[in-house]
Amino acid sequence: MRKVAIYGKGGIGKSTTTQNTVAGLAELEKKVMVVGCDPKADSTRLLLGGLAQKSVLDTLREEGEDVDLDDVRKTGFSDTLCVESGGPEPGVGCAGRGIITSINLLESLGAYDSKENLDYVFYDVLGDVVCGGFAMPIREGKAQEIYIVVSGEMMAMYAANNICKGIKRYSDGGGVRLGGLICNSRKVDNEEEMIDAFAKKLGTQMIYFLPRDNMVQRAEIHRKTVIDYDPESDMAGHYRSLAKSIDQNDMFVTPKPMHTDDLEKILMDYGLFG
Ligand code: ADP
Ligand code: MG
Repeated sequence: MRKVAIYGKGGIGKSTTTQNTVAGLAELEKKVMVVGCDPKADSTRLLLGGLAQKSVLDTLREEGEDVDLDDVRKTGFSDTLCVESGGPEPGVGCAGRGIITSINLLESLGAYDSKENLDYVFYDVLGDVVCGGFAMPIREGKAQEIYIVVSGEMMAMYAANNICKGIKRYSDGGGVRLGGLICNSRKVDNEEEMIDAFAKKLGTQMIYFLPRDNMVQRAEIHRKTVIDYDPESDMAGHYRSLAKSIDQNDMFVTPKPMHTDDLEKILMDYGLFG
C-alpha cells in the first residue's frame, strides 16, 4: 500500500486534483482510500456526489468511542473509499492533532488491514507546514510519499518551498520522500518552464502540468470529478495521465529547499518581472 499525501497552499487545487487523480487510479483498477485532512471537510465531495459526509471528529464528539468504520467511511465513485477527518471546534484545539486522532481511529477500526486490499491511501492536507500541526502526517510516518500542488504564482511557490523544508526536517527520522511537484496552471507567463526549473532546483521533478480548464468548474457544479462528469474531455485525459505518472513514479527524494533569494531569482529569470 502506498501512502500518499498531497500538500500545497490553500486554494491551489489540492482537493480537486486529489479526487480527479484518485478517479483516474480507480479506472486503473486500483483500490484507493481518500482521507480528507482539512477542517473544511471538502476533500471527498466530488467522489461522493456531494453527499454530506460526517467527519471522524464530529462522529467521535457525538457518539463517543463506540464508532464503526461504516459511520465514518463512505463508498464513492468507482468504489473509492472516502473519509473526512474534520476539524476541532473553531478557535479550539489543534487541527493537526485531530488528523492524527482520525488516522489512529481508522487504523484501530481496520481501515488499513490487508484484507481491505488497498493499493493507495491519499491524504489531502491543508496548509503549508508553517503550523507544525499540518506536518503531523509526515512527522508520525502516516504518509510516505508527498506531492506538492503548485502554480507559477509567487505565494504558491513560497508555500511549496516551505513544505519542502518540512519534508526535509522529517525525512531523517521517518521514511518520507517527495515524489514531485504537480503544476496546476494559473496561466502565469512561462509557467511550465519555470516550475520545471523550480522542481529541478529542489532536487525533484515536475511530475505533471495540469492546464487551467473551466471543465473543472462545470464538473464541480455537478458535484463530480471531471473523469466522472465528462470522461471524453481533454481535462479527463490530463487527470488520467497524472494518475498514470504517479502510479509509475520511481523518483523519490529528500528535497533541497531553496533560499528565498534563489527562489525570487527563478521568478525573475522566467520573466515575471520583466
Ligand atoms: P484546495 O483544496 O487546495 O484548497 P481546491 O481543490 O478546492 O483547492 O480548488 C480551488 C478551486 O480551484 C476549485 O473551486 C476548483 O474549481 C478550481 N480549480 C482547481 N484546479 C483547476 C484547474 N486545473 N482548472 C480550473 N479550475 C481549477
Ligand atoms: Mg481542499
